[in-house]
Amino acid sequence: MHKALQLPVKKLPEDAEALRQEVREFIAEELKANTFEPQCDSWLGYFSEEFSRKLGERGWIGMTWPKKYGGHERTALERFVVTEELLVAGAPVAGHWIADRQSGALILRYGTEKQRESFLPKIAKGECYFVIGLSEPNSGSDLASVSSMAKRTENGWILNGSKLWTSGAHHSHYMIALVRTSPRDPEKRHDGLSQFIIDLSSPGVTVNPIRLMTGEHHFNEVLFEDVFIPDDMLIGEVGNGWKQGMAELAYERSGPERFLSTYPLLKELVKVVENDADKYAKVAVGQLIARLRTLRQMSLSVAGLLEEGITPDIAASLVKDLGTQFEKDVAETARLLISSSPSTSSDSQFEKLMAQAILHSPGFTLRGGTTEILRGIVAKGVVGR
Ligand SMILES: Cc1cc2nc3c(=O)[nH]c(=O)nc-3n(C[C@H](O)[C@H](O)[C@H](O)COP(=O)(O)OP(=O)(O)OC[C@H]3O[C@@H](n4cnc5c(N)ncnc54)[C@H](O)[C@@H]3O)c2cc1C
Repeated sequence: MHKALQLPVKKLPEDAEALRQEVREFIAEELKANTFEPQCDSWLGYFSEEFSRKLGERGWIGMTWPKKYGGHERTALERFVVTEELLVAGAPVAGHWIADRQSGALILRYGTEKQRESFLPKIAKGECYFVIGLSEPNSGSDLASVSSMAKRTENGWILNGSKLWTSGAHHSHYMIALVRTSPRDPEKRHDGLSQFIIDLSSPGVTVNPIRLMTGEHHFNEVLFEDVFIPDDMLIGEVGNGWKQGMAELAYERSGPERFLSTYPLLKELVKVVENDADKYAKVAVGQLIARLRTLRQMSLSVAGLLEEGITPDIAASLVKDLGTQFEKDVAETARLLISSSPSTSSDSQFEKLMAQAILHSPGFTLRGGTTEILRGIVAKGVVGR
């Protein structure tokens, strides 16, 4: 098998399992205290400042970062366990999720010492949220075509343009934005891009909501009109934005949130089928669980490779492709097997989770890179360019 597709089987160390128990106890206490109700896709749209802060206090944000930046120097496998348990519980983690998963990791890798000292401790406390600033009205899969432009000025840059589909921008303090710092050159499409940390409270920044068909609000359009960005908010090097942006996407694609977004529904489906269903329904649900088991093993291997300092972008793309299809299939199987009236305001937990899963499903295979783009990455990585 091609080396890039090899996913060595990983077993979680004993102390990671002890940590799992700790997280489960915390979640059980929170559920008992009614601080949250399990939701599908909770990492994208279920927000609670209070819950993020509690996770920060327990040391479950910025887990792998150095202690001197407010991190906890734990392993990627320990982080995997905490992430997995929070998703399985459908907990309200959207506030800090992006900052913990990718913005903090990017600042740690490419940021200046001052940026690390200033941002990472606040993120690890669960008090500072970031949003992804990649897509634009005319740039999605083809990110090299972004046209928001930062022009040099005294002591900084002036930014004009916009970002689209920014999940959580209305709650976030900062955006990491990929923008042009020199005009587009058709011969060198990936050149001339840079990444900046944008303070979303800066004059000239407007965050406009884009409501989902459910009326929910997690997306936004963010407009920049002559926004001043001080020099010390540049991340990494001027012109290195493409390479840095691709590294950011590797953090974005590799986690268990790419197959667990509908887990709360699957858990309820198992209960329904256990109590009252024919053997064909049980077989269909059993097949979902077998797929979940395989995906989980693949994702764990990716976490193991990250722990060894390897960036397994091809394997991560595979997990995301298979995992997001699985998330959709959970919703579709539940819909076909169980007669119900899904509604986000239903009194039945099953119907509520069904409605969330069905309504969020179309986005699973788009966000963080579409299926076609991921398959392109796998094909190029395996067959060559
Ligand atoms: C729920 C959700 C949350 C999101 N959150 C954010 C966020 O926080 N920040 C952010 O920046 N963006 C965010 N996005 C945007 C997301 O990254 C883009 O939707 C995605 O990259 C696709 O871009 P597009 O929508 O412009 O589609 P396009 O790029 O226009 O693609 C349209 C179709 O063409 C196909 N296609 C395009 N190029 C190729 C190709 N080369 N080969 C084969 N097929 C191709 C695609 O696969 C797709 O099916 C979010 C999207 C969703 C659904």
